[in-house]
Amino acid sequence: MELRNCTSCGRTFAYSGSEICSRCGNTDEEDFQKVKEYLYDHPGATIVEVSEETEVSEKKILRYLRESRIEIREEDNMMLDCERCGASIRSGRFCDKCSGELKRELTSVLKPKEKPLEKPKANKTGTKMHIAGMRKKDK
Ligand SMILES: [Zn+2]
Ligand SMILES: [Zn+2]
Repeated sequence: MELRNCTSCGRTFAYSGSEICSRCGNTDEEDFQKVKEYLYDHPGATIVEVSEETEVSEKKILRYLRESRIEIREEDNMMLDCERCGASIRSGRFCDKCSGELKRELTSVLKPKEKPLEKPKANKTGTKMHIAGMRKKDK
């Protein structure tokens, strides 16, 4: 049995494939339903709006997006960036192009790496800046 610290409350719990403990998992599911219902009624809402209306933290909403449990309507949303190239994506962690490339890289994992990973293109104007700006407005 592997013990981990819950990423939500910090409590130690028996790891079973989820980053959060079962106690947080229950509220997490409730929060997720709230977010989902809100997005259903208000398609195209921003993370800030959803967070204010549902009282679910922006961090959590971003996690749902990263976990592909919800997705952003517009392709060009500036809310969620590909972790590899910085392109706007609607859910998950990588854009279609990068997830394709990453899959190919995984299949050739036994070969030695020829060159180091490229730096993400959108380093200066990446997600962090957009989200920081949104948080400020939120206060
Ligand atoms: Zn917890
Ligand atoms: Zn990408």
